[in-house]
Amino acid sequence: MTLKRDLQCPNCDGVSMWRLETMMERAAGMQPQPMGVLLEPRVFGTALAHGTFETIICATCGYTEWYARAIKGLKPDPVNGVHFIKNDVEKAGPYR
Ligand SMILES: [Zn+2]
Repeated sequence: MTLKRDLQCPNCDGVSMWRLETMMERAAGMQPQPMGVLLEPRVFGTALAHGTFETIICATCGYTEWYARAIKGLKPDPVNGVHFIKNDVEKAGPYR
C-alpha cells in the first residue's frame, strides 16, 4: 500500500494527505528553490541541480513518500556515489 496509489496511509490507515508537487529548500539569499535530486558541482557559481522531488505526506501521522521527478538526465557516477541499478534477472516462473 502507498499513499500515492491507494490514497490511504500504510502506517495509520489515514485518508487525509498533503501532496507537495515540488519540495523546496533555501538557496543563497534565503530564497526558496527546488530541492535537487543530484547536485552537480560547478567550479564557479552554485551547483547545478538535476531532478526534483514530489512528496505525499499523511496528514494524520506524517508518514512521507518521496518521488523523484525529471530524472532522465541523471548519469551514473559510482566514484561519487551515484549508482544506476537495473535488476534484469528474469523472474523464475513455473514455465521457463
Ligand atoms: Zn498516517
